Amino acid sequence: MSRPAWVEIDLAALQANYAAAKKAHGGRVFAVLKANAYGHGALACAQALATASPPADAFAVAFVEEALPLRAAGITQPILVLEGAFAADDVQLAAQHQLWLVAHQAQQLQLIEQHAGAPLHIWLKVDSGMHRVGFAPHDIAAAHARLAALPQVEKVSFLTHLARADELDTPAPTEAQLHAFHTATANLAGWRSISNSAAILAWPQAHQDWGRAGIMLYGAAPCASSTALQPVMALKSRIFAQRWLEVGDSLGYGAAFTATQRTRVGLVAMGYADGYPRTTPNGTPVAIDGHLSRTIGRVSMDMMTVDLTDLPGVGLGAEVQLWGPQVDINTIAAANNTIAYELMCHIQRVPRVYR
Ligand SMILES: *Cc1c(COP(=O)(O)O)cnc(C)c1O
Repeated sequence: MSRPAWVEIDLAALQANYAAAKKAHGGRVFAVLKANAYGHGALACAQALATASPPADAFAVAFVEEALPLRAAGITQPILVLEGAFAADDVQLAAQHQLWLVAHQAQQLQLIEQHAGAPLHIWLKVDSGMHRVGFAPHDIAAAHARLAALPQVEKVSFLTHLARADELDTPAPTEAQLHAFHTATANLAGWRSISNSAAILAWPQAHQDWGRAGIMLYGAAPCASSTALQPVMALKSRIFAQRWLEVGDSLGYGAAFTATQRTRVGLVAMGYADGYPRTTPNGTPVAIDGHLSRTIGRVSMDMMTVDLTDLPGVGLGAEVQLWGPQVDINTIAAANNTIAYELMCHIQRVPRVYR
């Protein structure tokens, strides 16, 4: 690569975070690899986790097409398809490739009933209060009975998803969801799974047979917790040009920054086309050759500008970390009114470099 813009992926950190998720949750834990492993590269992450110590118990993806490249590359762990089947083909592919399907609505039960073939493991999704997808608690027993009657269904398990597990000072909605889930599934045999990362870290009551770790694997804490996580992704570039602004000079599109003192500006080869958000305000942290500084001026498509005034030793070619071990991605997300998940998923155009 000649343009100095890349994203480093630390696979040892990913493995350590998976071990931390297993330790925090107990039992078994899905490593969630949807959306290309939250922008980290699903195949490389799956291979690293499949050979980690401890190895991943299983993986989870959003839809069937996300699972197929993992199978094609020889990943043998179970893979849970979190949104289940969109069409009959998906059930066929799930049977053929031994994918575990979520079923969250009656149409999916029909697709499963219409399928004749290799044994299926279905995870019934309970809407315990998030009111996005899932069967109402009072419909779970009937849905379970329909599946249990089918020769093509070898096992039925249960999951639910928590809407507010990251809000530690608002426990009541999570407690209500746990209660609704347990009531709906009370007398039914099968594995249970409730916890996303926030619940793995902060809700021991939500720990069941299986946890589902997403964001914590990638080293971004979804809530306050005593579990140490290691950032996996480091978004990096270099200073490729520099200039001085005199007092009163303004910088870039919309003159979003105006110098109130002589200001040395560094141009960084990173823009919103790479996934660094355009909405980033002046003063957002960056690390330059290890020293903390700040963004100034508006982020453009292919480049952005940082303040070098207080870093006289830093010049052309200096390495800039936009987020990673030195700059918490949660800080960048908060400055942009979003969450680390979205920043990670939006990385594009820059090559991934695995460490
Ligand atoms: C994405 C997802 C997860 C993982 O959530 P994190 O907050 O990233 O840990 C777990 N369960 C379901 C159903 C999901 O869609």
